[in-house]
Amino acid sequence: MTRLRIALQKSGRLATESLKLLKKCGIRLNINEQRLIAHSDNLPIDILRVRDDDIPGLVMDGVVDIGIVGENVLIEEQYEREFINKAASYEKIRVLDFGQCRLSLAVTSEFDYQGIESLNKLRIATSYPNLLRKFMSSKGYEFEDCKLKGSVEVAPRAGLADAICDLVSTGATLEANGLIEKDVIFRSRACVIQSASNIDQTKQELINKIMSRINGVIQAKESKYIMLHAPKDNLQNIINLLPGAGNPTIMSLTNREDMVAVHAVSSEDIFWDTMEELKLLGASSILILPIEKMMG
Ligand code: ATP
Ligand code: ZN
Repeated sequence: MTRLRIALQKSGRLATESLKLLKKCGIRLNINEQRLIAHSDNLPIDILRVRDDDIPGLVMDGVVDIGIVGENVLIEEQYEREFINKAASYEKIRVLDFGQCRLSLAVTSEFDYQGIESLNKLRIATSYPNLLRKFMSSKGYEFEDCKLKGSVEVAPRAGLADAICDLVSTGATLEANGLIEKDVIFRSRACVIQSASNIDQTKQELINKIMSRINGVIQAKESKYIMLHAPKDNLQNIINLLPGAGNPTIMSLTNREDMVAVHAVSSEDIFWDTMEELKLLGASSILILPIEKMMG
């Protein structure tokens, strides 16, 4: 069988999380910082470590089988290819729980912003001209392009543009540059994409196996294992407080006729206020444990 090729960002905001995810899926890797390719020694998988901007194209051209990339970079590449009539097919097979950010329009504090129409025909600096073009034209506005691959946030002060359209997560970078976020044009997360070209059956089975492991890892992260002692006469009320805890295990306690032990998996984290409510209902010895892996 030919080896499955997965493209990941080499270094940057998605790099560590992407690698961590694959490791949690049981893919053992020997990463050499200098090398483009890393081979797994326990599965027929090769990892290609590249710039995030290259990942959608590598998947769309069938050079790699799957890739992990931000939806912002993915859709920008798709629109770019549509624009120049280049094949852009791929399949998005799942969104992930990291890389959250938004693509926003921002202006300086002196700018009299009355809504997106205030930007009509002005110059906007961005690394995402295609996403911006689609958005502006859907609203019926035009703009002058100023494509910058980096330092977008300094463009207004440097007199290069009237506004910017850039990625924001906390907003700290905008603030540090005296910019105010006005409108969100796109929300993004990291996602897994698969090539639309023919993939042989054994390879596809391996992809399915990895995807099912990814589901298990993400589900486990969101879930908690709960153990507590509950008074029998308040058992149902206590169980009702545990989110998504289907059918908990109930066990008897030695020398306590009035109490039982409850073990349950909840589909969400349990916060302090829920624990306090459980205690008020008579629960004791409450333990909340993280779950390492999960399978249906
Ligand atoms: P590369 O060298 O791979 O081209 P880069 O500098 O283009 O890296 P990063 O800054 O590492 O990219 O961001 C990678 C991705 O992380 C973004 O495309 C986006 O999907 C996501 N991301 C999450 N939060 C942010 C943020 N605050 N700013 C920028 N990107 C973010
Ligand atoms: Zn990039």
